Amino acid sequence: MNVSDDQIKQIVDRVVENLAANAAAAESRPAAQGGSFANESRHETESALAAACGERGCFSDIDSACRAAKKAFLDYRDVPVRQRKKIIAAIREICLDHLPELARLAVAETGLGRYEDKLKKNRLAIEKTPGVEDLEPEAFTGDDGLTLQERAPFGVIGSITPCTNPSETIICNGIGMVAGGNSVVFNPHPSARKISVYAVDLLNQAVISEGGPPDLFTTVANPTIESAQYLMKHPDIRLLVVTGGPAVVSTAMKSGKRVIAAGPGNPPVVVDESADLEKAAREIVASASCDNNIICVVEKEIIVTAGAAVGLKKALLQAGAVELGGHQARMLEKVVLTGEGLPNKAWVGKDIQSILRQIGMDVPADKRLAIVETGADHPFAREEMLMPVLPFICVRDIAAAIELAYRLENGCFHTAVIHSRNIDSMHRMAKKMNTTIFVKNGMALAGLGFGGEGFTSFTIASPTGEGLTTARHFTRMRRCTLSGYFRIV
Ligand code: NAD
Repeated sequence: MNVSDDQIKQIVDRVVENLAANAAAAESRPAAQGGSFANESRHETESALAAACGERGCFSDIDSACRAAKKAFLDYRDVPVRQRKKIIAAIREICLDHLPELARLAVAETGLGRYEDKLKKNRLAIEKTPGVEDLEPEAFTGDDGLTLQERAPFGVIGSITPCTNPSETIICNGIGMVAGGNSVVFNPHPSARKISVYAVDLLNQAVISEGGPPDLFTTVANPTIESAQYLMKHPDIRLLVVTGGPAVVSTAMKSGKRVIAAGPGNPPVVVDESADLEKAAREIVASASCDNNIICVVEKEIIVTAGAAVGLKKALLQAGAVELGGHQARMLEKVVLTGEGLPNKAWVGKDIQSILRQIGMDVPADKRLAIVETGADHPFAREEMLMPVLPFICVRDIAAAIELAYRLENGCFHTAVIHSRNIDSMHRMAKKMNTTIFVKNGMALAGLGFGGEGFTSFTIASPTGEGLTTARHFTRMRRCTLSGYFRIV
């Protein structure tokens, strides 16, 4: 039977709506159930769910999602590593086969970003997230015998995912976590629940197709902040992995559980007069406009030395950026900032055409980025705007540029970029910034392995220090010492 993309979307919408209705009905039952669902109604809910979603991992409440994931973990312990590899290959294959649906559903549901960029981001997650090969065992041999260190699963991991990279994070976390031998309960962002259910469903299909247990990946039909916080405290969860803004990071870190936290950034890009200005401009426009700037690593403010400012601005305009004059910038502030000078969420992740239409500017469809000359303390520079509007800040020299970059990065220690041919400047900035990702003469995205060497990750854990997280971070080290024997030389 041929099923069109629209039909798939309608089916997913219907299933999610049914599940949400079940969840709402369950929640409106007597108070004794609280957030944890009394036994009686739990059975009713479960049978409704079993009918609605079969083996695809979507449950009406966190308790059921955790219980199913725990059972899956116990079954998965008997799955040999060679079969884990096949499961991961099948995940990559099914997600690649459904790339257009993943990209289309994410844009349609969240209203954030760009279809063509979501294709690229999902492909990156699918192809460059490391699998089982990331779990290198270690051996120590000597006069006293042999010691082995191997990476064991934690068990059930709770993963809280963002609306900005919904399926990318589920695919990336999903591959790394099952490579490590775990099962996962996802609590997605409420505004990305349909795309997340869809991605979890695909991952489970892949697992089952290779003989793995059902519900290795679970989620809830109606995720909320409350369900995320409930997951953070759930006794079945051994490790929490959270990807999002400051609130989720600080809440998770108070949970009392082991946490891998991937928080916000505000990546500066510094350009000095020694740089190849045309190349720098092309790369800034391509990277900062990718998915309308909602990716945490991409350039959020341009800091340029006085000697490079005129040339860089000219090159940016040639590369497809639009410059706003002072009056236009002031009108735009009223649109994209709240009264408190914070980003107005209504404009996060929107195309430059829709944003600039609000101030009466009609911008050709091929333009992707706007630049605004501002001072160092402007909200466009201070705040993580997540919009394709970048401040262009001119400073005296490279020393001032590095100082300002450090200040605007605001202690996130996430990502920074420099375009320069001066080794001393590159070296000084890398040391000063102390960021998880530092890119020299490339797009910030190159630090994610997009146009740069190395693996990718969509969970970049700066606050807790794991960096670009992969399978190894989702495991615990175990040691076995064989005293006096088994050395073979
Ligand atoms: P968000 O913080 O609004 O939401 C992220 C997740 O956390 C969602 O599932 C949300 O429901 C949950 N959440 C939010 N507040 C919570 C709280 N108080 N308690 C429990 N759960 C809570 O972020 P978003 O808008 O989805 O994503 C954008 C933000 O995430 C940006 O700040 C971006 O820089 C950051 N981000 C970081 C990385 C990284 O790897 N470091 C990756 C993607 C996004």
